Amino acid sequence: MPLHLPAVSRRTFLAGSLAAGAGWIVLDSRDAARGDDAERNHRWALFSDTHINADSAARQGTTNMFQNFQQATRDLLASRPLPAGMILSGDCAHRDGQVGDYAQLRQLLQPITAGGVPCHLLLGNHDHRQRFRAELAGQLAAPPLLADKHVAVVRAERANWFLLDSLRETSETAGALGEKQIAWLAEALDAHADKPAIIVGHHHPVIAGVPGLADTDALFEVLAPRKHVKAYLFGHTHYWKVYKRGDIHLVNLPPVAYPFQERAPSGWVRVELLPEGARLELVSLDDRHPAHGQVVELSWRAA
Ligand SMILES: [Zn+2]
Repeated sequence: MPLHLPAVSRRTFLAGSLAAGAGWIVLDSRDAARGDDAERNHRWALFSDTHINADSAARQGTTNMFQNFQQATRDLLASRPLPAGMILSGDCAHRDGQVGDYAQLRQLLQPITAGGVPCHLLLGNHDHRQRFRAELAGQLAAPPLLADKHVAVVRAERANWFLLDSLRETSETAGALGEKQIAWLAEALDAHADKPAIIVGHHHPVIAGVPGLADTDALFEVLAPRKHVKAYLFGHTHYWKVYKRGDIHLVNLPPVAYPFQERAPSGWVRVELLPEGARLELVSLDDRHPAHGQVVELSWRAA
């Protein structure tokens, strides 16, 4: 499973919500906002491609990734209501997942969990699974479900999040889920068909161009016929874009760190889950960017 950092002020959250019932780890976020504004249950913060370096002064081009993360954190914590959870869809680390990168990231995440927002981390191609686990193992809520992958289901009031692991080899641009993980996903989806399913991975579905998810077709053979699957979200290309494959929404999350294309926004996405869809709002780190505050409404395909 991905790393799950419980909200520090709600220590009972994990203890009360971890259930290994059907053979996979399920985190129930619905208790996270108990006692707070019920609207919190529907709010989520989506980060991607934070590329944190052990050195807080490190830059890529003109971008200081440490400062970008802090800016995104300030914006997240200023959200009202606060989100029920934050999901970081991979490339947590700068280049190749050094232990110090993860130590720095742990420090950076602390204000978010201390603010009462649990964090769920995925791996990208610039991460290193063993070092990630070694540095953050004390924070893991349970042993991993698949020995060599981090996967999880996070239950929310209006949807279930399925968090995947497409890291194939550190520093290899392309990624893959592999047959075992896709089989796990099919089972997990069938066992959680009661609500809309939102899938999150690091790599984009391959069409052409930038190397992405090598087993895109195998993944969509599982997703397409399961009509409760509504959207696939990912990062990797460092480019904010919302489009579709058939009637499944594709959401390419912007990087918290640096964009690859000049003038593309850095930032994160504020999500409100709706009964029949979702409302996405781009939060650019530069509030003068033309895309700042852009809202995209997704409506779910019929079940
Ligand atoms: Zn990246």
